[in-house]
Amino acid sequence: MGDIDTCGCKVGRVTAKYGRGDVDEWLIEEWQDEMSIRSLTAEFNKEIIEEELTAVGASRLEWSKTPVYEALHTEELSEPETIEIRRELERAGVDVEQLSSDLVSHQTVYRHLRNCLATSGPDEKSAEERREQARNRIYALQQRASLVTESTVESMQTAGVTNVGDPEVLVDVRIVCRDCGRSMDLDEVLTGGCDCPPK
Ligand SMILES: [Zn+2]
Ligand SMILES: [Zn+2]
Repeated sequence: MGDIDTCGCKVGRVTAKYGRGDVDEWLIEEWQDEMSIRSLTAEFNKEIIEEELTAVGASRLEWSKTPVYEALHTEELSEPETIEIRRELERAGVDVEQLSSDLVSHQTVYRHLRNCLATSGPDEKSAEERREQARNRIYALQQRASLVTESTVESMQTAGVTNVGDPEVLVDVRIVCRDCGRSMDLDEVLTGGCDCPPK
């Protein structure tokens, strides 16, 4: 413990405060493994939330860290939902203002990785390598979704809940641009996408 281990940026201060000085290694590993800074930041913030919920003794059953995170740090939830969650957190003994001000932005996480930990992101890959990797990743996911669905249907059949002759499951991935409404398959996205400017 002590100053030596803490870089002094917000990530360093927050991890020290919540007793999570062990996250640096994880951040570096996941980043190099191509997890996006956005997802890393969400995971990091959820860890902090979990520490706080544990510290005040809020039961895991009552609290799921994802909606708490969404209420405190994103605009995913509606205003009444956000207010409700914040109110319940306060009732559970959480200092909501403090906790939400301890959550970090993805710029902060990026700077912590680049500057404090002197890491660089995943090795530069060619566009074709990236496409290949993306296809493999999505394909594996489709396989898995299809297997899980198939075995679920089979167990429903065994239980007499449903009846399908010989079920084959097809998993189709579509990506829709929220701006222009164009619906694309993975390959269309990987080889160009729509004409909207990226966000
Ligand atoms: Zn730092
Ligand atoms: Zn578009």
